[in-house]
Amino acid sequence: MTRHVGRSWDGPGHLEALCPCPLAPCGLVDVDNVDDKCKQHPPMRCKTMRTGHLAEDCPGTGRAVVVALGRVEVARQRIIDAACMEPEGFVNASIFDAVDDFQAAVAHMCAEQIREETKYAKAMGVLEPDKFRPCRDAADQIDPEESES
Ligand SMILES: [Zn+2]
Ligand SMILES: [Zn+2]
Repeated sequence: MTRHVGRSWDGPGHLEALCPCPLAPCGLVDVDNVDDKCKQHPPMRCKTMRTGHLAEDCPGTGRAVVVALGRVEVARQRIIDAACMEPEGFVNASIFDAVDDFQAAVAHMCAEQIREETKYAKAMGVLEPDKFRPCRDAADQIDPEESES
């Protein structure tokens, strides 16, 4: 039985978000399905895995949030890169786009968190059907680009 693992203490984090390994439905990495180019997860790298579970115990939710976290990290780095292109006292025009992209990425991550929690709560039967729609609506207002309806 294979395991889903990650390098952070409290579930999948930015190392999973940014590495090339395919992500399991929970957002962690399947040890039997790592990317050899990854510097974090292949067993031959001998890195400490701080979180994990057996594939059969996988909660099956969370990957969208980790993918969204990766977008936030990339967008954040673009701001830093743009800011570093100009000498002190000058602002590179590309920083405005980079800031907008970062803001959208953060909003998307927040909305995905709501969508995932809502989906999970619905699947577990702990969210009454009439509460489901308002949660989805809130997520779609935060993140209109990704709204499904
Ligand atoms: Zn990896
Ligand atoms: Zn899992």
